Amino acid sequence: GFAATEVLYNEAGAVIGVATGDMGIERNGEPGPNYTRGMELLGKYVLIGEGVRGSLAKQLIAKFDLQKDREPQKFGIGIKELWQVKPENHRPGLVQHSFGWPLGMKTGGGSFLYHLEDNLVAVGFVVHLNYKNPYLYPFEEFQRFKTHPAIRGTFEGGKRLSYGARAITEGGYQSVPKLTFPGGALIGCSAGLVNVPRIKGSHNAVLSGMLAAERIAAAIASGRSHDEVVEIENEWRQGDIGKDLKRVRNVKPLWSKFGTAVGVALGGLDMWTNTLFGFSFFGTLKHGKTDAQSLEPAANHKPIAYPKPDGVLTFDRLSSVFLSNTNHEEDQPVHLKVKDMALQKRSEHDIYAGPSTRYCPAGVYEWVEKDGEETFVINAQNCVHCKTCDIKDPNQNINWVPPQGGEGPVYPNM
Ligand code: SF4
Repeated sequence: GFAATEVLYNEAGAVIGVATGDMGIERNGEPGPNYTRGMELLGKYVLIGEGVRGSLAKQLIAKFDLQKDREPQKFGIGIKELWQVKPENHRPGLVQHSFGWPLGMKTGGGSFLYHLEDNLVAVGFVVHLNYKNPYLYPFEEFQRFKTHPAIRGTFEGGKRLSYGARAITEGGYQSVPKLTFPGGALIGCSAGLVNVPRIKGSHNAVLSGMLAAERIAAAIASGRSHDEVVEIENEWRQGDIGKDLKRVRNVKPLWSKFGTAVGVALGGLDMWTNTLFGFSFFGTLKHGKTDAQSLEPAANHKPIAYPKPDGVLTFDRLSSVFLSNTNHEEDQPVHLKVKDMALQKRSEHDIYAGPSTRYCPAGVYEWVEKDGEETFVINAQNCVHCKTCDIKDPNQNINWVPPQGGEGPVYPNM
């Protein structure tokens, strides 16, 4: 029921805790009748495990310059549905993965399909957020993926139960920020520890929590507090997390540089040489641009025509958001902060043709004509907290901050 919205520092500049947000602030920013102040939660050390692109981690990375001398973090947007399928289409334990289609060879991404228990199938599609074409529509790519002849049969006669979306980190070994700062450390997806070819990060998230807990327990036992536990930063690359990520460090940059067909093959070769000989022909490749910088002006690209949803196998965004159980009190300040509205119009709309209206998997953003003016409308109550807008806006003009309380999507079975 609480979101940490603020980092607390002592006079020396070390982190000493977090504060939860105030509740009951009305849309106009004024305290309403149910107004309650947030609480300060203090500790000798603070571990930040907020998931991908956390709002506190983002502030800490900037304040302590933790990304210095590292490659930019890279991301993908993963969109997922849970289906109940007909028993004859269910094969418990079956796992399927694919690359490419319907994305084409120049945009990175792929799918997963897991047959779970009780005739349940989880299906999802990840689009790498370094895509260039602002007309690309990740949600529609996912819907189209389900229509592939090798896939659609699984869902025929089935029922969609849930929907969700979340960004994932993809930068890997060379993008992990410095993990420690005075008074705490980043762990899990705040640190960006996903192994991209394994599509897996929970193992490293657990290991990073264990490493931090052990080193911090030892620091507290020796009477320390609020200092920098540099042991965490100094040790993770030599440990299991570092070994796991180092072997696969070139897969994402090769995929980005050479496209799906050649890049994935080269990535496979690179993983072989790294695993067998501890050696890479490529050294450690760079990612270069951020995902926001990768987007190109609309004039360089053609709009993409996506088929209309059939309401059986493919759906629209709003009926999908309904299945995410997303809930926000409407009478509160909008939690998606556009820093400069004139820039949004001048650039996001005029130059990039409004990519937020497509990359958002919840249909939060719209450009609507009002009084003869194109106006940016933010349907914040639909937000499923995936963080894609915070990552992909070409001008980094959208800042995601936590809404009040523990609001957002509820994923009981995802
Ligand atoms: S508004 Fe941003 S964080 Fe919310 S669902 Fe859309 S892209 Fe994701």
